[in-house]
Amino acid sequence: MNGEKKKKIIKTIKVDVDKCNGCRACEAICSAFHATPKYSSNNPARSRIRVIHDPLRNVYVPVYAGEYTPAECMGRDKYVIDGKEYDECAFCRASCPSRDLFKEPDSGLPLKCDMCEDDPDVEEPLCVQWCISDALTYEEREEEVEEEETLDDLDIGLESLADKYGFDKLMDAVARMSMYKKG
Ligand code: SF4
Ligand code: SF4
Repeated sequence: MNGEKKKKIIKTIKVDVDKCNGCRACEAICSAFHATPKYSSNNPARSRIRVIHDPLRNVYVPVYAGEYTPAECMGRDKYVIDGKEYDECAFCRASCPSRDLFKEPDSGLPLKCDMCEDDPDVEEPLCVQWCISDALTYEEREEEVEEEETLDDLDIGLESLADKYGFDKLMDAVARMSMYKKG
């Protein structure tokens, strides 16, 4: 690490839980965008955003898929909202071995929000565009950060995925992703 700084764009999506009405349009468009070929199907299990529902209490919480984790947490969180206790891990963003959320339904590989693959044709994240309740707001800011050792990070990520899912399955998924990129 040589301590050099570089500019980085930090992309965030602000979630206003009070404005979410549980329509799940965000799930529909995200899953369609990530289908192969693009927009050929709509399966919320493929979405990188999932809406935790409790219609009787009018509680809807959109949760974005975050980092993959190879091990379960030793401690768990429990949330109580309007007097109702929600399942352990209900609002967690991780793709984790202890539950099915945020796993690609065909391959079982972990899902993570990729900001619509930074597709230049997508001006603003699709989930934000499709949320007509304005529960999701996209924001960008510039920050100075240390130079990243990105290749090391990639090695560690691939190694844990290969451990978890097996090398052949991982290579199949990479081959499918590269076909999808070309198409
Ligand atoms: S599109 Fe907006 S209002 Fe509808 S479920 Fe998603 S976040 Fe909630
Ligand atoms: S930003 Fe794009 S990839 Fe991320 S959840 Fe929204 S639609 Fe899906």
